[in-house]
Amino acid sequence: MACATWLNQSVLPTLCNRTHICFNLRHFRSFSSSGLRLRLRSLQLCAQAKRTSSFKDTPVASPADLNFVSPLKIVEYPDPILRAKNKRIVTFDDNLKKLVDEMFDVMYKTDGIGLSAPQVGINVRLMVFNPVGERGEGEEIVLINPRVNKYSKKIVSFNEGCLSFPGIYADVERPGSVRIDAQDISGAKYSINLSGLPSRVFQHEYDHLQGVLFFERMTDEVLDTIRAQLQALEKKYEERTGSPSPEKIDTHQSRKVAAGFGKS
Ligand SMILES: [Zn+2]
Repeated sequence: MACATWLNQSVLPTLCNRTHICFNLRHFRSFSSSGLRLRLRSLQLCAQAKRTSSFKDTPVASPADLNFVSPLKIVEYPDPILRAKNKRIVTFDDNLKKLVDEMFDVMYKTDGIGLSAPQVGINVRLMVFNPVGERGEGEEIVLINPRVNKYSKKIVSFNEGCLSFPGIYADVERPGSVRIDAQDISGAKYSINLSGLPSRVFQHEYDHLQGVLFFERMTDEVLDTIRAQLQALEKKYEERTGSPSPEKIDTHQSRKVAAGFGKS
């Protein structure tokens, strides 16, 4: 059973006969849920909502904010782009469609099943995903200016990865399902309920739009298992840029508290 069967195609917007969403698979692992058993490469996800300030307070993206250079490149932790404010999209033009197509291209090339715009250096509220992770298969879904208006009470643990954290996988707890309001590639508003894998992918990618990274959702015990890998990425960043890492995993605790995370 393919992941895309979780998506109600009748309510998802389509683009070029495809539906768009974001997600990333790497090493396949076993996953069972509600009688389903999937063989997945470890997930690369993004998202979960902080119900904070009004959406209207979110800055609007200018045309310059949506400029991009092909081919897109994945931004890795601890690049500050992953923490920057992501602006609301109000212009639904050909440039936006080109950006979406380019995001799908880089997502497939990197074995992804989901991708958020800040992960390719564009700080706007856009994500794409295809839970199947193969071009021409499954449903490609685009979510623009998404907002979560409801989470399920049930919390599910799942092994996640992230394209911005190459080679790092660990368990993350998130609500099992979400109800979302968003806009499609033409700007039309729609609402959708997601559960299972699409819900997981969406929440991981949505976190990226909030400037939240998946290790911040991990328990201290789980975080300890990847601490050395995060430090290695910080060192890699410092060697590449010649600048100090803008954040350190060892000083991360305060942000976790400040961001208002909880398990429910
Ligand atoms: Zn991610």
